[in-house]
Amino acid sequence: MALPASTNILIVGCGPAGLSCAITLAAKGHKDITIIDARPDGRTLSRAIVIHAQTIEALHSVGVADKLNARGVRAKRMVVRWQQTRLIKANFATLEERTRFPWALLISQSDTEDILEERLNELGIHILRPYKVTDMESVQGGIMVKFESGESIKARYVVGADGNRSTVRTLAGIPFRDPKTGKNPHAAVVKPTDSAKKLEKKLGKELVVADVHLSGHIPPTVNPTDLGVFLSPMQFLLLVPLPPAKDDPEQRPIYRMSCPVEPGAKEVTLTYLQKVLNSALGLPTEKTPIVDKLRWASLFRVKSAVADRFHQRMGDGIVTLCGDAGHVHSPAGGQGMNLGIRDAIQLGQALSDIIKRDNDPNTSPSAARAYADKRLEGYTTERRKLAVGVIKITKFMTWATGLEAPPAQRARNALYWTIGRGSVVSKKFTLRLSGLEAADHESIPLNA
Ligand SMILES: Cc1cc2nc3c(=O)[nH]c(=O)nc-3n(C[C@H](O)[C@H](O)[C@H](O)COP(=O)(O)OP(=O)(O)OC[C@H]3O[C@@H](n4cnc5c(N)ncnc54)[C@H](O)[C@@H]3O)c2cc1C
Repeated sequence: MALPASTNILIVGCGPAGLSCAITLAAKGHKDITIIDARPDGRTLSRAIVIHAQTIEALHSVGVADKLNARGVRAKRMVVRWQQTRLIKANFATLEERTRFPWALLISQSDTEDILEERLNELGIHILRPYKVTDMESVQGGIMVKFESGESIKARYVVGADGNRSTVRTLAGIPFRDPKTGKNPHAAVVKPTDSAKKLEKKLGKELVVADVHLSGHIPPTVNPTDLGVFLSPMQFLLLVPLPPAKDDPEQRPIYRMSCPVEPGAKEVTLTYLQKVLNSALGLPTEKTPIVDKLRWASLFRVKSAVADRFHQRMGDGIVTLCGDAGHVHSPAGGQGMNLGIRDAIQLGQALSDIIKRDNDPNTSPSAARAYADKRLEGYTTERRKLAVGVIKITKFMTWATGLEAPPAQRARNALYWTIGRGSVVSKKFTLRLSGLEAADHESIPLNA
């Protein structure tokens, strides 16, 4: 399909946020939508692996939940252990009173994006690529968005869903910073002499993510329907079962491993992952699974930042942000993509309302403008508040799981064990992880 000369809504980026925003608008009957992406081909590798209950509710409202639920593994619990000792757990079954989806859905981000794209195609919208945004200029009636290819498109509304290094956010002049330090984590200056600790302070903690196959003895604590967090002398291991790859003839379960990086290492090895697994489980060798195949692995740094605003007028046009373009944080608790998808659905609803008001012959241009400003102000306030809350909690979780000194680890474990015995704290922990606590502050209608 060819790039049109103009569009009412331009969505930049077709990750989970861009796709969810486009689906919401298309499901509400908007046809004049263009969604583009810089990448020449489809999916990223599997990054986010969890969709929580409140996000499934939101996706249900745009007709995508059934396919996702059919593809993913329904995790009943998230259990935090010190090796084999259970410290604290979130029991998703206790969410029954609040949601039709009382589980955490374990599914790779690439599968999620495939299902979202299928839904978008059903609604008659197709992604255009590769189109990399390099510039935006305010022109009469909208914003002229320019691409690396030399082409351009005029849009009334531009949705920046282009990830945490968002070009749209930068071109709109919206600051992006850590709410505590006020600094942009992407602007840190690194010196060749910086030690690993200094780099961690400047750039964030470095973590491994790896998708592997396990063989040999699988102990009961590596439960196929649990999200497992194993604390150990080597800090922590997140161990999560995922559905087998669609193209795997043997249909072997995949396990996501996430842990701190090996000091000084530039790549992830099976030997290191085995060492982490041995420490995490604390079992004799014959009772410990073997990490026998690495499907893919990556190293990344945990950063925290939020945009000052999630919308910005540019002349006659409006720029908005959703997903990682608006906020980035540690993957602890699997909140990033979840918050981003829910931003995107809220934004789609807000833009739909604004466009309807704009096209209403009974509404004057000044009243439509005032309505748009109020609606987007509400969107910014709601999404910023939630993002700042997620940054706070995920910073704490990253700090607590990353404790290295044995006395600090023992004190943390004792605290977790004590609070883990109380049902009130466990229930609150479960509600918070699921996003249903945030639902009280979100405008996504449940039971839609
Ligand atoms: C290793 C890792 C593990 C993670 N684990 C979890 C997890 O367990 N749970 C969770 O909820 N989250 C997790 N996350 C975070 C999650 O992956 C992100 O929150 C999510 O991908 C954000 O979606 P998005 O659509 O906002 O942005 P992205 O997925 O980053 O998509 C942005 C899109 O914009 C495109 N783009 C960028 N610049 C331009 C441009 N100039 N022009 C046109 N297109 C452009 C890109 O090609 C890309 O397709 C993890 C992240 C990482 C890195």
